[in-house]
Amino acid sequence: MNASVHATPLPTFDDVQAAAQRLQGVAHRTPVMRSSTLDKLTGAEFFFKCENYQRMGAFKFRGGYNALARFSPAQAQRGALAFSSGNHAQAIALSARILGMPAAIVMPEDAPAAKLDATRGYGAEVITYDRFTEDREAISQRIAQERGMTLIPPYNHADVIAGQGTSAMELLQDVPQLDYLFVCLGGGGLLSGCLLAAKAMAPGCKVYGVEPEAGNDAQQSLRKGEIVKIATPKTIADGAQTQALGDITYAIIRRDVTDIVTASDPQLADCMRFYAERMKMVVEPTGALSLAGARFGGVDLQGARVGVLISGGNVDLGRYAQLLDAV
Ligand SMILES: *Cc1c(COP(=O)(O)O)cnc(C)c1O
Repeated sequence: MNASVHATPLPTFDDVQAAAQRLQGVAHRTPVMRSSTLDKLTGAEFFFKCENYQRMGAFKFRGGYNALARFSPAQAQRGALAFSSGNHAQAIALSARILGMPAAIVMPEDAPAAKLDATRGYGAEVITYDRFTEDREAISQRIAQERGMTLIPPYNHADVIAGQGTSAMELLQDVPQLDYLFVCLGGGGLLSGCLLAAKAMAPGCKVYGVEPEAGNDAQQSLRKGEIVKIATPKTIADGAQTQALGDITYAIIRRDVTDIVTASDPQLADCMRFYAERMKMVVEPTGALSLAGARFGGVDLQGARVGVLISGGNVDLGRYAQLLDAV
């Protein structure tokens, strides 16, 4: 697919600003944290935007809520549908509850019980399927048609992208003069939204996407000049196990990003441990991508002001302990 001929117009910074208005008083304005230890160690000034403290524990609430808040009355009555076993599911479930509309989430029947329970806990109906014999996209399409529900994808959607961009918008309001911004990257909803905000608010700021070394499809896509699809990557960064960018996220990233760097699983675990030990923060593996990219991605940050977007903090504590123990 050629992104330059993408049919609908790409979202803009105006859409990010409109999303910020909708999220006002609903999403948390998350804190920006510092670490003098890291600043001394690196000779740079780091500013952490902590979306691990966002509602439901990740930035995905921003995009989910923004998308659902734009439903027509007829759409709202039928409700929202999502397929996801991760943070997007909880974002849609919580947003639907706040907006008083039905939500159904399609999840594999062998998803961790804690995730099924959390999604049900937000009031959504969970529809399970057998991921070895059934195709989740086909199931979701069928349910969307049968029930008239509106399917909200996790990243390749203009309203989702605009909502995610409000995180970087807030960071740049709080810290206007950033030289660099590092953003965790899966399907590219967060990165493309952050790019819309950064290009408008801090045009000189260099923005890097950081994806798992084992799943560098976006880096390959950027180099090749077209969307590259890979097999589901094996990495501890479960929120970034995407196979390909979407046509909308690819078009924005290709146009605006400085570059894409990668991080290995041991580097992610190392950064998770740093967050726990030095900053007393629980950050999930995918949320540690941005710092890992800043520290180990080969970009010279001496004397620079560096923004790091921490995307989320949802991790099973048993697994968390194991990952930290292995470093
Ligand atoms: C979804 C997710 C990502 C990746 O976001 P994309 O918009 O798909 O690039 C990163 N971190 C966390 C915690 C996530 O939930």
